[in-house]
Amino acid sequence: MSAAATFVVMNPFTAPGEWLRCQLHCHTDQSDGEPTIAELIAHYEAAGCDVLAITDHWLITRGESSTMLMLPASELSSKLDRAPFEAEVLALGIEELPEPREEFDSIAACAQWIVDHGGVAYLAHPRWSSLTADDYLSAPALTGLEVFNGGCEVQQGNGLSDVLWDLVKQQGGTPLAAKGIATDDSHQALNPDGSDSRLGWTVVKASERTLAAVLAALRSGAFYASTGAELLGLEPDAAGNVLVRCSPAAAVTLHSGAWDGGRVNADPAVADLGGEILERDADGLITAVRFSPLTYWPWGRISVLAPDGGRAWSNPFPVGGEREAFRPV
Ligand SMILES: [Zn+2]
Repeated sequence: MSAAATFVVMNPFTAPGEWLRCQLHCHTDQSDGEPTIAELIAHYEAAGCDVLAITDHWLITRGESSTMLMLPASELSSKLDRAPFEAEVLALGIEELPEPREEFDSIAACAQWIVDHGGVAYLAHPRWSSLTADDYLSAPALTGLEVFNGGCEVQQGNGLSDVLWDLVKQQGGTPLAAKGIATDDSHQALNPDGSDSRLGWTVVKASERTLAAVLAALRSGAFYASTGAELLGLEPDAAGNVLVRCSPAAAVTLHSGAWDGGRVNADPAVADLGGEILERDADGLITAVRFSPLTYWPWGRISVLAPDGGRAWSNPFPVGGEREAFRPV
């Protein structure tokens, strides 16, 4: 079977619909978090979220909001056959819990249960859990992973899983299949001595403002992940060029497989490769870029780096890569 037959490729920047800011990983005092349900909901309403998935461990914590769509969800877990002996998976859009409520034997079984019960499965904080590309690839029901987990990043410096994400894409043979979300994984969102929220979020392009449309976007990859930067446009063309529009950036990168990709930098003293800055703002920051065709691989993804360190990550998309030997099987 060809890779293209196994997943849907969606360009959220050209698809019709509405952009919705989603927080897909957070905890209340129903599991190991501090805020009450009402406190957490009010917190994320104030943060400008449109969609909230409360992911208490092995619970579906329900609450009501007058401004946000409440996506029923949980954080489930599976055994791992080596230290740390546990992996965790976000179950987005499930209406019931596994019985008995105990760890699955494998990531694959956990993800499959989620999909069989109408949900979308994302591997949580793979770097924090010391997971490998093989762990991800052992579970074909996974839709993606957390490329960024805010709590892990600010508290232990291991919330960024972009390297693992690219290894999954390169080693798995279906580079467009693994999507990347950004989340808070907040446990103390309202703590006056230090919050672990408003760090990472996912911006979906939903065909309408409904839970079904949000879940469809999370399945198809019609979204980008953010810690502050914005992706405003992404257009791969038939010739293999990629046009990117973004919030003012210090650098914009086209990532791909081994040896491939490009980056442009707002600082004129830094060398660019494989791309041309088309527009800058009044401060000289990058707002539009055109990347040249890739050399080897038929997929790319974009990341944006804001001057304050905020980032945005696109999902992988098909583009360029002429060498047949480098095409995934
Ligand atoms: Zn969590």
